[in-house]
Amino acid sequence: MRSIRRGDSGPAVAEIRSILVGLELLSEEGSEVFDDATDHAVRAFQQSRGIGVDGLVGDETWGALDAARWRLGARTLFHSVPNALVGEDVRTLQERLLEMGYDTGRADSIYGPRTARAVAQFQREVGLTQDGSCGPQTMKALRRLGRKVVGGRPQWLREAEAFRQAGTNLMGKTIVIDPGHGGGEDLGVVVPEGPLRWTEADLVFDLAARLEGRLAAAGMRVHLTRGPHPAQPMTGAERATLANSLGADLLISLHLDGHHSEAAHGVATYHYGTGNGLSSTVGERLANLVQREIVVRTGMRDCRIHSKTWELLRLTRMPAVRVDLGYLTSPIDRDRLVNPLFREQIVEAILAAVQRMYYPVEIDVPTGSIDVRQLRVALGAGS
Ligand SMILES: [Zn+2]
Repeated sequence: MRSIRRGDSGPAVAEIRSILVGLELLSEEGSEVFDDATDHAVRAFQQSRGIGVDGLVGDETWGALDAARWRLGARTLFHSVPNALVGEDVRTLQERLLEMGYDTGRADSIYGPRTARAVAQFQREVGLTQDGSCGPQTMKALRRLGRKVVGGRPQWLREAEAFRQAGTNLMGKTIVIDPGHGGGEDLGVVVPEGPLRWTEADLVFDLAARLEGRLAAAGMRVHLTRGPHPAQPMTGAERATLANSLGADLLISLHLDGHHSEAAHGVATYHYGTGNGLSSTVGERLANLVQREIVVRTGMRDCRIHSKTWELLRLTRMPAVRVDLGYLTSPIDRDRLVNPLFREQIVEAILAAVQRMYYPVEIDVPTGSIDVRQLRVALGAGS
């Protein structure tokens, strides 16, 4: 769908406005014009959901707005087959249950079997009929408990435990490398330079292909989410579904950044997490390692790691990170990124980060100092 933006008008705009009014991000109803106030409200909404802040209502923002109509308690939630209930109310419930120590999996806004099981467990413990659905009685019990009960974060403990149990050998582990964009018109950031035209889609595909070779040589099973010139663009959800269906142990998504100012430069890494402290600890560790190895080895500016609820990070069931490997719009970063030798350095850094993920913490070594060949020998010997 074409993005709806400032200056547009019509019933679709009226619909967007009424959802934003419901979220108390916009004050008055009735208008069908996407005015400045609507633009501000859309940006505030995008910011709160970890979606790129551009004020445009495209597929991802629309999906999030549509799901946001539902406030917890406004309808009975249950595990519906085959079309699961999706919405902001489900996410609120999942986060609440996670805070209390129930394992709903990630707060992905989808009322699946795991969420239903967590609700049933909660119902049993508070003495309600265990039907796994969240109706008025269960809502009442949740409200009565208020914010008093806060337990562990079993989802992340479980993820960490599963990761630990998988062992320190990366031989045979499955990793999905996701080159961002590609397909149809979606080239990501595009920068013309003289007769040349650099695109994010092509550069990250080149990086992904190099990384694929290196990881495979280290004994991992490697899958890319797309080829060099896919026919159709892919959404974050489609990429996540693919990684889930492959049973991947790790996912690394590669992007470049762009900014209207040439001065913006540097590398940043993102892992799954909500603003209120729920975060994938294994994902955060991977993000940290990737970020540190790249910064130390390349000297790129450190724009640090951040938690986001982007579809790709939210819907994947394995530790997943997205790296923005510099700004294509920055002359400093661009000069380096278009150089294959520099891209090789980045690949080396990511490879070292992946190997460190499987390296027992007690014999960890300083960042930037690993010779990956030695590490492989050590890992092979230790397993
Ligand atoms: Zn991108």
